[in-house]
Amino acid sequence: HAKVGGRAQTCFYDPSMSRDLVRRREIEAELRIAIQRDELSIFFQPIVDLETGRIRCFEALVRWFHPEKGELSPGEFIPVAEETGVIVTLGNWITVQAARIAATWPEDVTLAVNLSPLQIRAPGAALGIKNALREAGLDPHRLELEVTESLFIEDNHSTSAFIEELSALGVRFALDDFGTGYSSLGYINKFPFSKIKVDRSFVSGSEAGQKSDAIIRAVAKMGATLGMDIVAEGLETPEQVKTVRDAGCNLGQGYHFSRAVPDYLAAMLLAQERENTAFRAIA
Ligand code: C2E
Ligand code: MG
Ligand code: MG
Ligand code: MG
Repeated sequence: HAKVGGRAQTCFYDPSMSRDLVRRREIEAELRIAIQRDELSIFFQPIVDLETGRIRCFEALVRWFHPEKGELSPGEFIPVAEETGVIVTLGNWITVQAARIAATWPEDVTLAVNLSPLQIRAPGAALGIKNALREAGLDPHRLELEVTESLFIEDNHSTSAFIEELSALGVRFALDDFGTGYSSLGYINKFPFSKIKVDRSFVSGSEAGQKSDAIIRAVAKMGATLGMDIVAEGLETPEQVKTVRDAGCNLGQGYHFSRAVPDYLAAMLLAQERENTAFRAIA
């Protein structure tokens, strides 16, 4: 680098670039190599049958343990991955890793994987899922793909094709964070969802209360009529478990049961359950 001198050269702080943006750029650059560096791992959070207390499913949740920044939340780096397109590579990696673990569980336990809209719209998305299942030796019926309504904002042909192609194989779909988006009944009518996940803001958020209980009840009733599973997200207390069960939700997820845990602990939860000592969902 040529010697320029003067103050301009040392001015590497551009005031228009906020600290947030700097961090974003760092995350963007580091995310690309995080997989190779073995900094990412998949954790699993149980989804529990509220009648029997048994684990029916584990949701795969990606974790990034950064050597300097510490643990980064997916709420921070997943949007960056989406904006930069890294989500496609990352998503494929997550699906393969999670499916490999799920293949070691009892056959009646399913795996839920979150998919970003961009992953689904990417060319060859359905093939990527099929390859992951084949590579892991996981029956398609044991895979559930969680999508949010943001997927349907764009009326995209590839979205419909993706859902139809994988549904035909037996893969199931869950509508995640229901109640936070448009909450359109049109999507539920149009696409073959087997599960609705009622967002945790209805359960434990500041807006939770009598009104949200009534909404949960209405969603649960609709779900039951349509033969769908209704999951209440974000259950943290026995009272909340009772409330959503009384409201008609058949499944629950939240810190009350367990946080997302590493694969060996998920296996331990399943083993304990089979000894009948793990969860008593209903207080
Ligand atoms: P999500 O799919 O709605 O996942 C549920 C989130 O709620 C998880 O946060 C989970 O740890 C958290 N949670 C579960 N139970 C409780 C509870 O009782 N109380 C509270 N306060 N929180 C609870 P997490 O792991 O930080 O993930 C945040 C979001 O990031 C996910 O929301 C999902 O949209 C996205 N995400 C996570 N992993 C992946 C992934 O592998 N792929 C993609 N595309 N997105 C992911
Ligand atoms: Mg989810
Ligand atoms: Mg959710
Ligand atoms: Mg969420």
